[in-house]
Amino acid sequence: MVHDIRLGMCNTLNPVLLRASSLRARWHAYCISFETAYSRGFMNHPSADDTQIQATLSRIKKRYIILSGKGGVGKSTVAVNLALSLAGRGLRTGLLDTDLHGPSIPIMLGLVGYVGTAEKEKFLPAVLKDGKLKIMSMQFFLQGRDDSVIWRGPLKHGVISQFIACTLWGDLDYLIIDSPPGTGDEPLSAVQIAKPHGAIIVTTPQAVATLDVRKSIDFCRKLALPITGIIENMSGFVCPHCGGRTDIFSSHGGEDMALELGEHFLGRIPLDANIVPLADNGKTAVDAMPDSIAAKSFSAIAELL
Ligand code: ADP
Repeated sequence: MVHDIRLGMCNTLNPVLLRASSLRARWHAYCISFETAYSRGFMNHPSADDTQIQATLSRIKKRYIILSGKGGVGKSTVAVNLALSLAGRGLRTGLLDTDLHGPSIPIMLGLVGYVGTAEKEKFLPAVLKDGKLKIMSMQFFLQGRDDSVIWRGPLKHGVISQFIACTLWGDLDYLIIDSPPGTGDEPLSAVQIAKPHGAIIVTTPQAVATLDVRKSIDFCRKLALPITGIIENMSGFVCPHCGGRTDIFSSHGGEDMALELGEHFLGRIPLDANIVPLADNGKTAVDAMPDSIAAKSFSAIAELL
């Protein structure tokens, strides 16, 4: 049984995360199984309370959640590049990775080895861009890159609430929240807790992907979450050798859907062969190839937020 750990504002900081962070110990597989967390009484006090959440939200001017109906459409890529574009303009930006089972933000930002820590009552985020960009992710608390998080329901809600309320964000101009695809636990908790000002929906142009995105739109409408707009990613490939354009994933599907559903179209990002190797090596389009069409498209969209 884990005892309540009373700590200033966030007086029920997730004891499993806290132990991992304050002792700088890494988790073992058994620490992150749902059953173990349940048997240790962790389920009884998993969430930050409303006062903590309100206090944190009152210090964040604008909050956006990135959604997609499908995995692999570039949601995390968009989240990272938008956050970097905002931070690059000197805006204080937070990037919260609520993909608890498949966090990829740390890999994309070269933060794989970063170990989550807590100081007094708060989790310390990773910090980049001279303090302008603060990042929090479940990956920071895992022992190894391949460790899985075997959680469901209330545990996930609790950790997301604590990542929002008990991370030392300070005053932020923007909080960008990346979420796993679909309309399940993580986006639902993030929306209910962080009360975003808007949702940014990412799709690829082909019909199969846009079909799933319609569900994300429906999700926003049912939760009364304003839709900031739709981004069409991987939209056309310009061959670096011959200059010819190929619409590998069809074209204009995201824009057509936005038009049809009366939603705002934020812009399109081309399929750029450099983005995958960059991301795999902890680099981003916005930082590593600022003159590319992709980087300029990310920056132009960030200007709209
Ligand atoms: P999601 O978060 O939707 O699962 P990711 O952002 O992880 O998607 O992207 C999936 C893969 O596609 C990654 O390898 C990423 O580097 C790559 N990718 C994303 N956007 C582009 C793009 N515009 N051009 C080329 N590769 C991209």
